[in-house]
Parts: sequence; C-alpha cells; structure tokens
Amino acid sequence: MFDYGYEYLLRQQEYLLKTIKAMTSRLDLSALLRLILNHAVEMVQGEMGLIVLQGKRGPEVRAFYGIRPEDLSYFAPLVEAVPQRVPGVGSWIIPNLESRVIQVTTGLGLPLHQVVAMPLKFKEDLLGMIYVLRRGGGAFSEDDRQVLVAFADQAAIAVRNARLVSQLRWEKARLDTIIDNSPAGIIILDDEGRTEQVNLAFSHMVGRRKEKMVGLPCADVLHMRETQGIEVCGSFLNGRAQSPFYVEGVLEPARGKEKIVGVTVTPLYEGDELVNVIITVQDITRFKEAEEMKVTFISVISHELKTPVAVIKGYASTLRREDANWDRKTLEDGLMAIEEESNRLAELIDNLLEVSRIQAGALKIRPEPTSLRPIVEKVTEGFRMQTLRHDFVLDVPKNLPPVLADPERLRQILGNLLSNAVKYSPRGGVIRVGAWSDSDKVTVYVADQGIGIPPEEQGRLFRRFSRLDSGLRRETKGTGLGLYLVKSLVEAHGGSVWVHSEPEKGSTFFFTLPVYRPQHAGNINPLAGTHDG
Ligand code: ADP
Repeated sequence: MFDYGYEYLLRQQEYLLKTIKAMTSRLDLSALLRLILNHAVEMVQGEMGLIVLQGKRGPEVRAFYGIRPEDLSYFAPLVEAVPQRVPGVGSWIIPNLESRVIQVTTGLGLPLHQVVAMPLKFKEDLLGMIYVLRRGGGAFSEDDRQVLVAFADQAAIAVRNARLVSQLRWEKARLDTIIDNSPAGIIILDDEGRTEQVNLAFSHMVGRRKEKMVGLPCADVLHMRETQGIEVCGSFLNGRAQSPFYVEGVLEPARGKEKIVGVTVTPLYEGDELVNVIITVQDITRFKEAEEMKVTFISVISHELKTPVAVIKGYASTLRREDANWDRKTLEDGLMAIEEESNRLAELIDNLLEVSRIQAGALKIRPEPTSLRPIVEKVTEGFRMQTLRHDFVLDVPKNLPPVLADPERLRQILGNLLSNAVKYSPRGGVIRVGAWSDSDKVTVYVADQGIGIPPEEQGRLFRRFSRLDSGLRRETKGTGLGLYLVKSLVEAHGGSVWVHSEPEKGSTFFFTLPVYRPQHAGNINPLAGTHDG
C-alpha cells in the first residue's frame, strides 16, 4: 500500500484542476487523448495506460502510454471487452477485468497486477474507456479511483467537444467540396449582402477569380439583368424576400459571352435575423436556345409548308373545274406554279432530312477529286435562268487545282449560297462567284450587292433556324436552314465558312475546300461526318 499524505492529495487536486483547464482548451482529439492519458497515468502513479474509444468500426486504441507499439496487440482482451452498464448507477464496468489483465500479462510476460478501468461517459453515452495499469506495488486506493472518476468525467466532456469540433470541421470540408464541385454557380452572402464565399462554377461563369470576389457587395459580383424585373441582390436586404425565389435573367460576365441564367435566392434566418443568403446560378442558355429553336422550328416549318401547299391546292382545284375551259397559257402557268411549289416543298423536305442527319451525326460525304469550274458554271446557269434582275459573273481560274470534295454536296453548298444571294438582293445587281487557290486549299466566294447583314448579326447566321429580323426577311421565304447546312457540309469536308458583309452594300460568303493531292487517294474518308456544334 502507498502512503498517501495530505500533501499528496492536495497536489493531486491541484494537478487535476490544471489538467482540466488544459484539456478544455484542446480541440484536436488525438492530442487531447494523449494529454488525458498522460495525466491519468501520472496522477495515480501508474506505469501504463490505454484509451479505447468506440469508433465506427468498433473499439479502437486511440492513445497509449508506457506501451511499445509492437506490444499493443497483447492488450486485445482489454480493447475488445464490451463494457457493461451497472444498473441504477449510470456507470459501466468491464466484465472479468481481472482475468483479462491476466491474459495481457501472460502475453506480455510482465507482471501487471493493478488496473483501473474508467468509463468516459457523457450523459447516457459511453464514449470509451481509460485503463491505467501498474506492475507491482500496492493496489490502487479508493482515493485514486475517486480522483480518476472525477477526472474521467471532465475528460469525457473534452473528448466530446473535440469530437464535435472535428465532426463540424469534417462537415464543413464536405460542404465546401460539394459547393466547389457543384455544376451550378453558388454565392453565399452575409447579412449585409457581401459575398462570403463563391464557388468554382460561378468563377468560371463570370470569368473572375474566386478570391477576387470575396467581400464584395452582391451587385458587384452578380451582374445581372432580370427579365422579370426583380432586383436579385437588393430584394432580400430590404426585407421583401422572406422565402426562396427563382428568377431568370441575363448574366454579364467580366469576360466571355452573356449567358441566360436561372437564379435561386434563399435567405437563411435565425429567428427574425437574416444570417446568410444562398444564391445558386444555373446557366440555362442552351436550354433556352433549344426551347426558342423548337418554337421557331414549328412556326417556320408550318409557315413554309403551308404556303406551297396552299398554292398547289389553289391551282389544282382551279384547273380541274369542270365548268371552266382553260386556254393553253393559263393551263401552263398553273402547272408551272404547281411544279415550282412542289420543287420548293421537295427542297424543304430534303433540307429537313439533311438537318436531322447532321443532328444524328450521320451526315455522309463522298469526297473525290473534283474540278470546281464546271460545277460552278452549271449551278450558276440554273440561277441565271430564274432571274432577269441579276448579272452573274464567274471568276474561277481555268488552272485551279482539283479539290477533294463530294460533287453533289458542292452543288448543294453553291446552290444555297446563290439562292441567298438572289433572295437577299431584291433590287438585283451583280452576283460574282469566284475562287482562288493557296498551297493546300481552294477558297470559293459568292458575292452579292444586296441588303447586307448588320455586323452584330453575322455571328449567328450559321445556326439552325437563324433568320434575321429585317423587313425583307419577313417578305422572303426561308427556313434559316440553308447556311446551317452550308456550314455543316463545308466542315465535313474539312473546310471553313465565313462572311464579309456591309448593310446596304452586299455580302460575300467564303468557304474553303482541301486541294486534291494524288497522295490523298489512299486516305479518302468516305464517311466523314459532322455534328451540330
Ligand atoms: P433562309 O434564307 O432560309 O432564311 P439561311 O440559313 O440561308 O436561311 O440564311 C439565314 C439568314 O441569313 C437569312 O434569313 C438572312 O437574314 C441572312 N442571309 C443569308 N444570306 C444572305 C445574303 N446573301 N445577304 C443578306 N442576308 C443573308
């Protein structure tokens, strides 16, 4: 038996207080457990110690003292022991503690006779156990046990706090990962409407670094014109928005193109106090464009189908009237109109089929060595016959090298460009078709002296169903498919297409095709395809 003097007890008390103070300021769980164990062992002059906590996968040794790591496995009988609740006392004991200690002792080859097992408990929950062991000497006294119980209760509070903190840290890290990797842009504002956090998706959307946006007022970060007239950044600050709302608008990024976005604003309140506002920003540009395209598609197509069908139907029923006796000229005019309109219908249907092939990635071209001049002459001739107002001038050198192109597709490209040149120069003028060659490509152009295209509209000409809003556009027939087809076909040949145009002066469309070189012969890809970009 140890002789515990008064002074010793006093020292123990003092020590306990100091330790508790140190413990409560420790939030790193591993360091805290080491501190607890060191103090617990030293407090009762033990020699070895062990803290076992209940982990997700069962009990785990989280700290040890005076034990060599390689000897830890000998402590399994203690580590794996399932503490049992003492009824009515609110504490836990380790069943068969003595025999477990003997097992450890035998394994280790050390005489360990004394052990205290202290539950670390918080309210009704058992967090783990502290074991303190001593070789020879006297048994642990009742005082020892008392002081350890008091200590373990305090230690349990510290352990629980540290666990909560680490759980919070982990949850914050998890949330940050979710926020940063979310495909939607996210802005978190503080109670004054300044950004606390912005995520990567938003930073990409507006072309600004994340760090540069933190601390700025909402309106300096989210440059947005709202289509519904709601001021996103101001609305919650002046208390108008108590609950989440959704609004769509146009986002003006620092760099890059404007985007159509859908924004959800969620204010977070603590009682009546606004704490945070979460703004999520979704880029819905493609979705809106697709929606618009669908609407345009239906209206354009139904209009374009209706007109020729009405003409055909009108002439057909007029011509077959039994009470009328049509002269030759009227008959011919009527039949010609029917033929023209049927051609238009057939062309429209072809174009639609072609577009759906492009969309499905099934556009097929069969490139072969092709001489450009005869094709240009032939296609132009067809148009020359249709109009008296236009002069067609050809400027294709005789010695132009052959191109590697699908002749049928080439006719389609030229046909579309020439048809537009005629359509969009209603006052007539010269339509010039020419070409020149560089080392590896031939550039072809179709120039008119027509209405031209405003610079800001030139970018979207080549998109599907893109028709420009001019007076003439409404008068002329068209579906906005022609240039889209031209672009897809030219690109399928490995070429590119572009336009130079000035309103009221005219437009010139250019496209390139690869020059045929005999070594090409072996690697023609007959199945080159293109997709809708
Ligand atoms: P469509 O002629 O059937 O409307 P296109 O795709 O061929 O469709 O052309 C798209 C739009 O580009 C046209 O509606 C027209 O506004 C404009 N455009 C095309 N070619 C010309 C041109 N040569 N001159 C002026 N505008 C043109």
